[in-house]
Order: sequence, then structure tokens, then C-alpha cells
Amino acid sequence: FVNSIDEFFKYCEENDVQFVDLRFTDIKGAWHHLTYRMSAVNADNLTNGFPFDGSSIEAWQPINRSDMLLKADVPTAFLDPFTADPTIILFCDVYDIYKGEMYEKCPRSIAKKALKHAEELGIADAAYFGPENEFFIFDEVHFVDSINEAGYRVDSEEGEWNSNTRFEETYNTGHRPGTKGGYFPVAPTDSMVDLRAEMMMVLEQIGLEVTLGHHEVAQGQGEIGVVFSDIIGAADNVQKYKYVVKMVAHLNGKTATFMPKPLFGDNGNGMHTHQSLWKDGKNLFYKEGNYGNLSDTALNYVGGIFKHAKAVAAFTNASTNSYKRLIPGFEAPSILTFSSQNRSASCRIPYGAGEKATRIEMRFPDSTACPYLAFAVMMMAGLDGIKSKEVPVGPMDEDLFELTLDEIREKGIPQMPHTLREALEALIADNEFLKPVFTDEFITTYQHYKFERDVWPDEGRPTAYEFKTTYM
Ligand code: GLN
Ligand code: MG
Ligand code: MG
Ligand code: MG
Repeated sequence: FVNSIDEFFKYCEENDVQFVDLRFTDIKGAWHHLTYRMSAVNADNLTNGFPFDGSSIEAWQPINRSDMLLKADVPTAFLDPFTADPTIILFCDVYDIYKGEMYEKCPRSIAKKALKHAEELGIADAAYFGPENEFFIFDEVHFVDSINEAGYRVDSEEGEWNSNTRFEETYNTGHRPGTKGGYFPVAPTDSMVDLRAEMMMVLEQIGLEVTLGHHEVAQGQGEIGVVFSDIIGAADNVQKYKYVVKMVAHLNGKTATFMPKPLFGDNGNGMHTHQSLWKDGKNLFYKEGNYGNLSDTALNYVGGIFKHAKAVAAFTNASTNSYKRLIPGFEAPSILTFSSQNRSASCRIPYGAGEKATRIEMRFPDSTACPYLAFAVMMMAGLDGIKSKEVPVGPMDEDLFELTLDEIREKGIPQMPHTLREALEALIADNEFLKPVFTDEFITTYQHYKFERDVWPDEGRPTAYEFKTTYM
């Protein structure tokens, strides 16, 4: 939309913009904002940064070193589709005024640094990412009548067990799933269709290139396809996408969640991530005639991600809930191998893509990942694999969900971690591949933060299911 500061001011005047909304992302991927009055924004602060208190963001600065700057990325400007008064949103990078450089815990800055690293290695000058963020739409208000002994809700009206809602959701204030059939499908109109259509229109309005919207496997689950972008653009798009999906749902009296496994026994929400590296306008992942038309570079990239997968998962599958999705039977992978077509492998090679479109699709990530960190970490692992010519196990074209645990072991196929704890412990042991871009301080902070905020509180909580399995 706007490419320079002059164009920015011109655009704001033409659109009667009243507020400038500065947005930045923390290490868990949450989008934060500060709203400036238009009259307080000038060429000086647009160039040199806006001050804010970095100590109020989790795992960032201590209170005695809390002054930070937000540096606006002017060409990212777009009008907020949801505010009453015209408001323009700007993506920002966080600047450390004490060190005089980009802040080491700013995910967006880290992703920029990762791309620069790929260039400096002489391997690639562009990295493209195409994330697919799945979500559930639930009713905003929901009353639980009673809970059966397995922890599922009993719907008193229908007098039947409801397999759709777990006991835990009774104290989850974020969202409250509706009953199967309670919201979707609704006669005479399927209201998910209209919701998705509205989401798609708004996404286009704010600059995303939308290809399709569709219902997903589970009840009330959906996905909207967005065209791939460069590493920063794709991560920016994830932030915009989540904002729009949640807001449109909210404005329609619904709630959207990207939680990896909100419902027991049904499909979860993934963030499959398509990836390719390019140099001098050439797709480095393409080699005609090879399996899936994949080049050795692409295979080594996959090999690198698999080699470091347990540590990578600490970023791509960043919640305790993530690992409840990565179980056989729900199109979410647990086995680290690759295949064209096969959706039970961690890495799928979309079948029959030509020279430009040949890419790999990592299927294990989910939307609890901070997109900037997830893309940067996968790319760092992939680059490491290219350097050391790592070869992944595969291809394996059979249905891997049919394999027994013994067979998986016999074939020597590595697996994803089974818990966030396992992923974080892997990260502590295996982080050399991140060092060229991630500081020790960042890795230590991230790992402590995730243990304290996610792992320990979860491990200390009895679950409803334990009432069934514990011999008392
Ligand atoms: N929901 C599945 C997952 O968790 C993916 C289903 C699909 O897109 N085919 O990854
Ligand atoms: Mg898809
Ligand atoms: Mg999907
Ligand atoms: Mg997919």
C-alpha cells in the first residue's frame, strides 16, 4: 500500500486516519499494540522509533531496564478493518536502546536475522513459507450441565453422552465448545460458510491473497488458504489471519480457537508449513526426475529439520496441548519421514508440483508456535542439514498410522517428541544449530519461560481422566 514515509502520511490524510496502531509480537506469538493519535506521529518517530515499556511483556526486560523502542515497518501499513475510527496498523520491530541494536528477544527481528544468515552462508537469498492455520469455531456461551466419569459433558436435553467437550473446558475461560450439531450444520444455511466467506473478504481487504476456504475434518473446524510469502511476510500474515479469524468470529457471537487439540477423539488444528529456498530466482528444491521432483538440497533441508526435530518442536509445537494432537489417526504426524501424497508422514511433498511450486510441507507445526520463531527455527535446522548433507528416513508411502510401535522402532524411524517437556529438554541439549542467529540469553529465557508457564503448571494439575484411571 505505502512504500515511503511521505506516501504513508498522504495515505493517512486521504483516509482520514485518526490513530496509528503499532503492533509487535512476543515470544509466545501474541500480538501486542499501542495506539498513537495521528497528530503525535511524525517523520521523526516513524524513523527513529516509539518508546514503550518492555518490562510488561512476559520474558522480556527487567523493570530496571525496561525502556525499549518500536521501529515501525512503514510498508506494512494497512487499515484496521474492525475499528470505529480509521486506524492504520504498522508492524514493528523491537529495538534495544541499551545495546543499540535489534532486541535479541524480538521474534520478528530474529526471523530477519535468520534470512540474512542463509544469505551469508551463500545458500539462499529467499525463503518462502506457506502456513495453513486451522481453527475451530465454537459458541461463545455454553453451559455445562454435568460431567460423566470419563470427563465428558452430559447434554441433559438430548440425554446423551457428549464426546465433544471435555471437563477441563469448564474452567477454560478462553472458549467454550458447543455440542456436535449445536452449531454446525445449521439449517437452512450452513453458517460456517458465511463466517468463512466474511473472513476471506476481510483478509483480502487487508492485503492477504486468499485462494480458498473450506470446512475441515472435525465438527466446526475450518481453514482458509492464503498464498505463500517470504519468511517475514508469511509470519506477518499469520498474525493478520489469526486477528481476522478471531475478530470475525467474535463479531458474529462466536469464538475461534487455534488450539492444537481442543476436542478429544477428533482432528486437531495444525499449521502445516510449506517451505522452499531460492537463489538467483531459482527454486533450490526442484530437480526434475527425482522422487517428488525434490533436489538433494531439499532432501538435506528435510534431513536437517528431522535431525533437530525434537528441539525444533519446542518452537513449532509450543504448548503442552500440542502433543495431544501429534498422535496417530487424525492426519497429524508423529513419525519423522517424508512422502509425496502421504498425509501420515511429517513431511509431505505436494504431488506433481512444477519447477516453481515444488516445495516441502512440514505437517507437525501448530498455531501455538510464534510464526516468526517457528519459521526461523525450521530454516536454521534445514540450513544445518544442507551444510552437513543430512539424509532423512524415507520416502515411506504406506499408511504410517498402521505401523505398530515395534515396527517403528525396527525400521529405525525417528519420532516427534511426545511432550513439551521432552521438546524443551531436547532444546537444552541441541541448540548449536541455532547459535548463529539466536543468542544464548534468548534460548535460556525461552526454555525457562516455557517450563514455568506451560510445563510445570500442567504437570501439577490432576486431569478429569485420572479420576477414571487412578486406582483409588
Ligand atoms: N487437522 C489435521 C492436522 O492436525 C490436518 C488435516 C488436513 O489438513 N488434511 O494436521
Ligand atoms: Mg490445507
Ligand atoms: Mg487442513
Ligand atoms: Mg496441508
